[in-house]
Amino acid sequence: MRNELLELAGALKDHILSEKESRSGTCRLYLKGDLDMLSSMPVDTVPNNGAIRVPSVTLEGIRAELGDCTRCKLHGGRSHIVFGEGNPRADLVFVGEAPGGDEDRQGRPFVGRAGQLLTDIIKAMGLKRDAVYICNILKCRPPENRNPEPGEITACEPFLVKQLQSIQPRMICALGKFAAQTLLKTDTAISALRGRFHSYHGIRLMPTYHPAYLLRNPGAKKQVWEDVQMIMKELQQEP
Ligand code: URA
Repeated sequence: MRNELLELAGALKDHILSEKESRSGTCRLYLKGDLDMLSSMPVDTVPNNGAIRVPSVTLEGIRAELGDCTRCKLHGGRSHIVFGEGNPRADLVFVGEAPGGDEDRQGRPFVGRAGQLLTDIIKAMGLKRDAVYICNILKCRPPENRNPEPGEITACEPFLVKQLQSIQPRMICALGKFAAQTLLKTDTAISALRGRFHSYHGIRLMPTYHPAYLLRNPGAKKQVWEDVQMIMKELQQEP
């Protein structure tokens, strides 16, 4: 019996070490309960004392839990839920605001004009679109692309939190005011938030202008380029 216990402990230790190594040396371990607590916690709190690793939730599992969502009124007008797409182990996650018309039709994030610009930005960073993960604060399109309402954000945010916990990226790029203000729990203007790193539960977060804003204000591309260069520099550092 004692030997069996020792074997079990050894296997558990190996598993934990290989998990850490597979994250390139980074160790972000979350305690059970954090999943539900995260969205209400101060954003600079690192919910990690390294004690227990909750078996990570898969994106498929989170999608299944979301189901044919009717948690807010947006379900009435949608064609598709836009859950998010990309590398489930991405170092970098882009978070936008909400699906637009093209995204609603196709069920994929950032596939319209703003999406093409985001894809170009990702390529200019030297990355492939499928190497990163792309999602939004809201998973359903608001009518006429109006701003997300607080109740809609409250209903949808837990799923984004779980996606981020599942992916455990090294970096989040918040695209535009809604993504940045929602994740950072602040009312500060995007112009004041961008250009420097913030902490989202211990994950570096860079707010920058939304690609749709860039389509209307091409002059702001220079600042976005500065922001994404800071991201690239940071990602090139050893974790
Ligand atoms: N704008 C967003 O914020 N998200 C999308 O998916 C598309 C456009």
